[in-house]
Amino acid sequence: TSDYRVAVFGAGGVGKSSITQRFVKGTFNENYIPTIEDTYRQVISCNQKNVCTLQITDTTGSHQFPAMQRLSISKGNAFILIYSVTNKQSFAELAPIVEMMKEVKGNAIAETPIMLVGNKKDEESKREVSTAGGQKIATAWGCGFIETSAKNNENITELFQQLLALEKKRQLAL
Ligand code: GDP
Ligand code: MG
Repeated sequence: TSDYRVAVFGAGGVGKSSITQRFVKGTFNENYIPTIEDTYRQVISCNQKNVCTLQITDTTGSHQFPAMQRLSISKGNAFILIYSVTNKQSFAELAPIVEMMKEVKGNAIAETPIMLVGNKKDEESKREVSTAGGQKIATAWGCGFIETSAKNNENITELFQQLLALEKKRQLAL
């Protein structure tokens, strides 16, 4: 199909909705509004001369039932795994999602674009996860890595560009 589905995972409060909204709408909200699953669509370029629809699903994170998580994973072409650099626990909570991805995708996991994201890089004084620590796990999981700030609009476009660049079956670009 001409749809390219990206699912965003991570613990509650890490900035899944903020990163998605910053990318899709260019806005940021200081308030925490718990999410019911939401999907956003954007037209991107595919194989130079064609277009396809980038579908970004902002999941409810850890509130999602395992069966729902499994479904989001099986439907997804690519994944964004977010933790907050100010919360070590949110970093640890990603491991079970990665395990589920390996299980659901099987051998295809090796070709599945995944970006590990340390969000809230603007809150340097509250940092609990080092950049090197994030990079090390990304290397172990075989995925890309970037630190972002949805608040300050740092590395948000870059995150999506890097994710699309990991797709080898089609040539995708913003
Ligand atoms: P979600 O539960 O993962 O969707 O998290 P939200 O996107 O709703 O964000 C949770 C809270 O963190 C909100 O109060 C946001 O304003 C705040 N937040 C999100 N991204 C950033 C960021 O990059 N920096 C800072 N300082 N706060 C952020
Ligand atoms: Mg949310």
